[in-house]
Amino acid sequence: MTSAILPQPQPGIMDITPYAGGESKILGVDRVIKLSSNEGALGASPRAREALVLAAAEAHRYPDGNCTALRTAIGETQGLDPARIVCGAGSDELIGLLCRAYAGLGDTIVQTAYGFLMYAIYAKSCGVEAILAPEKDKTADVDAILAVVRPNTRLVFLANPNNPTGTCISHDDVIRLREGLRDDIILVLDAAYAEFVSRNDYDPGAALVDSHPNTIMLRTFSKIHGLGGARLGWAYGPAHIIDVLNRVRSPFNVSASAQAAGEAAIRDQAFVDLCRSHNAHWLGWTQAKARDLGLKVTDSVCNFVLITFDAEGPRTAAAADAFLRSRGVIARRVAGYGLPDSIRLSIGRDDEMELAMATLTEFMETAGAS
Ligand SMILES: *Cc1c(COP(=O)(O)O)cnc(C)c1O
Repeated sequence: MTSAILPQPQPGIMDITPYAGGESKILGVDRVIKLSSNEGALGASPRAREALVLAAAEAHRYPDGNCTALRTAIGETQGLDPARIVCGAGSDELIGLLCRAYAGLGDTIVQTAYGFLMYAIYAKSCGVEAILAPEKDKTADVDAILAVVRPNTRLVFLANPNNPTGTCISHDDVIRLREGLRDDIILVLDAAYAEFVSRNDYDPGAALVDSHPNTIMLRTFSKIHGLGGARLGWAYGPAHIIDVLNRVRSPFNVSASAQAAGEAAIRDQAFVDLCRSHNAHWLGWTQAKARDLGLKVTDSVCNFVLITFDAEGPRTAAAADAFLRSRGVIARRVAGYGLPDSIRLSIGRDDEMELAMATLTEFMETAGAS
C-alpha cells in the first residue's frame, strides 16, 4: 500500500498534449457565434435529423456492426465498392486504428508542419514519433515530405485539403508523392473537406486508392454533412488494409443513430449542394472582407479561413480573439499548430458571418487607437 512505484503508461503517452476542441461557451455571454470547429454552417440535412429521431425508438438495440446499409449508401452515391469501405466513430478513430495496426514503438509517421494535430497524437499513443515535413506558403510540399521519410516510417498522413491552413495540393502532386514513397509505406489521404473543393486539379484520392495497394482515403460526416456530434467517418482502401481495420476496430464502433443519420445525409445530395454553394459564397466574401481590412488571408478551399495578424503591437491574433470573444464570437486560436499569429474562422450562417466580420472590422478600426 505504501509503494511509491505507480503504474506507468506506455512510452510516448505522456508526451501527448491532449487535443483541445473548439470552445462553445463564453462565461457571461448568452448568444455565442461558434465559428471554431468547421462544423458545417447549415447543420445537418433535415432528413438526417429525422433519421436521428426515428433511431431513438430503437436505442436499446445494438447497431449493425458492419454498417451494411450505410456502406451501401456511401458506395452508391460515391461510385465505390462498399466491400472496401470501413466506417468509424469519426475519421479520428480510423486515424488511430491505422497508427495502431501499422506502426509501433521505434517507428515513425510523417505529416506536414501545419498538418492536422490528430495524426501526431495517435502516433504518440503507440510510441511512434511524428516527423513534421516543412511546408511552403502554408501548403504541403511533396519534396519536403519525401526528404524526411526514414527507413522506419510506416505511414504518411496528408490532409488534402489541410486543416487549419485551408490549402490543398493538386492530384498530380499527390501522385508524385505516392510514386516517391516506398511501397511498404501507407499513404493516408485525409479528405475531410473534399466536398468543399471546387478546384479542377483536385481529387480526393479514390482513383489513387484503386491503382495502389498501399493508399487509403479518409472521409468524414463532421464537415459538409454537419454531423460532428454523431461521430462518423469512413475509409476507402485496398481490401487487405480494410481487412486489417475490421480486425482491430471495436465490433460496434459506430452507433445505430450515427449509421441512420449518415445514410440519410449522404443520400441527400441536394442538401450537400446547398451547403457547397452557401460555403462558396461566404468563403469568398469572408476572405475579401478580411483582405480589405489589411489582414493576411491564406487562400482556402475549405469551410474556414486562416487569418494572420501582426506578431506584436495592438493587432495581434490574441487581441483579435479577445475582442471577438467579448462580442460573443468564438474563433479558433491555432498556436498549437505552430501558428501563434493566426486565427481560424469557420464559415457559418449569413447572419453569423456578417456579425463576425463586422466585429473584426471594429477591432481593426479601434485596436491601438487611444
Ligand atoms: C475534422 C477533421 C477530421 C475528422 O474528424 P471526425 O469528426 O473525427 O470525423 C479529419 N481530418 C481533418 C483534417 C479534419 O479537419
